Amino acid sequence: MPAHFDLIVIGGGSGGLACAQRAADHGARVALLEPRPLGGTCVNAGCVPKKVMYYAASLAEGLRDAAGYGFDVSVNGHDWSALRQARDAYIRRLNGIYAGNLERRKVVHLREAGRFAGPDTVVAGGEVLTAPHIVVATGGRPMVPDLPGAGLGITSDGFFGLERRPDSVAIVGSGYVAVELAGVLAALGTRVTLAIRHDRVLRSFEPMLSAALMHEMRQDGLELVDHAVPAGVRESGRHLELSTADGRTLGPFDCLMWAVGRGPAVEDLGLDRAGVACYDDGYVITDEFQRTNVEGIHAIGDVTGREALTPVAIAAGRRLADRVFGGMAGRRLDYSLIPTVIFSHPPIGTVGLTEPEARDLHGDAVKCYTAGFTPMYHALTAHKRRAEMKLVTVGPEERIVGLHVIGAGADEMLQGFAVALKMGATKRDFDDTVAIHPTSAEEFVTMR
Ligand SMILES: Cc1cc2nc3c(=O)[nH]c(=O)nc-3n(C[C@H](O)[C@H](O)[C@H](O)COP(=O)(O)OP(=O)(O)OC[C@H]3O[C@@H](n4cnc5c(N)ncnc54)[C@H](O)[C@@H]3O)c2cc1C
Repeated sequence: MPAHFDLIVIGGGSGGLACAQRAADHGARVALLEPRPLGGTCVNAGCVPKKVMYYAASLAEGLRDAAGYGFDVSVNGHDWSALRQARDAYIRRLNGIYAGNLERRKVVHLREAGRFAGPDTVVAGGEVLTAPHIVVATGGRPMVPDLPGAGLGITSDGFFGLERRPDSVAIVGSGYVAVELAGVLAALGTRVTLAIRHDRVLRSFEPMLSAALMHEMRQDGLELVDHAVPAGVRESGRHLELSTADGRTLGPFDCLMWAVGRGPAVEDLGLDRAGVACYDDGYVITDEFQRTNVEGIHAIGDVTGREALTPVAIAAGRRLADRVFGGMAGRRLDYSLIPTVIFSHPPIGTVGLTEPEARDLHGDAVKCYTAGFTPMYHALTAHKRRAEMKLVTVGPEERIVGLHVIGAGADEMLQGFAVALKMGATKRDFDDTVAIHPTSAEEFVTMR
């Protein structure tokens, strides 16, 4: 006899957990399938361990800057292994908290991978489960290119498993994962080479941000190699070399990391058995209500190919549960104006349209305001870092459609500004807001 539930959630990451818990709060009988530690990519191999490493890197930078403030600091080394152990222990605590959250809500957690056997049936280990609603929340996986020797490299998953800090690393990629992990390793003392396919990092972001970050990375001693299309990896003694399509050889390196994007985790899911339609690249096709083409089957988070961010997966999951089990008809996630932070060195905050996107859409109606300065913190430090900001406005009322910042504090600065943009703020609203002094954020309300 199959076990029957109101909802089966496949995947216990950010989106799956949020959806399962909210549905249970609404009284639904829920089964959640997750064979790996609860929390998914974000908790186990993404946001959380990444931010811990970012804090470590920021401390290293603080120690470097401390002399400017009169400290006589001598650093006797850094224990990577101790940091890793403390980080992993923190993650295990979080895994336990998630398990407790499910237990409290009586969500049945099966530590098995799920596979569709039909549109309302999922097989997990030896069990057969049925439900009128099934949510696919299986997330994504880092991609490794199909090139000779590619298996010699690691991915972001492997980065979090490193037993010791490599002395030198090649990171292949130019997206946010590439620049974030490059920044962490460089700050902790690794010689970093970033192999960029085109001519700049963060190509889908506001060009001002890419230019400023590349400048800062070079100032920090990272080697940025552009137009480096990878062709293969080979061993050279105990080291690795990366060859490029135009015949260059980069290296030797202690370690090579692929940060060339992620793909959907759908291979063993049996989506075809349920008749669920996917795009050519495997992402599950969903409408604005997270519905797939099959009645009762929904998908949320990274597996849908939409903005791959934890709060997006969580928000989509909660709204779906509110709509289906909470009687909130029409409830759905609005995917516009999603703010995002890149924990680079210095950090980046960005929301809304880039200047080129705004000009494509609105032509001459676009007016931009910019500011560039050295934050006051660096008045006394030998190592300086600039901050750059841009407001993208449209129309005579100068509605703000894009806000971009790179510089110290950008990460904590963005959330409030994102609220303002979501409410339709204009340049006049910003001008009418009294500045907070002395901060970097005040530049956003004093731009001329
Ligand atoms: C290095 C890195 C850094 C990141 N940093 C940030 C950040 O700072 N901020 C941010 O917002 N986002 C960040 N992200 C992105 C974020 O981690 C993802 O957007 C988020 O985890 C997506 O949640 P999800 O629920 O869709 O999928 P996931 O969290 O990936 O969860 C999917 C779960 O499904 C499970 N699963 C897969 N197949 C099956 C199956 N057949 N049966 C059962 N379970 C299955 C997996 O084991 C996994 O636990 C980062 C990602 C990476 C890789």
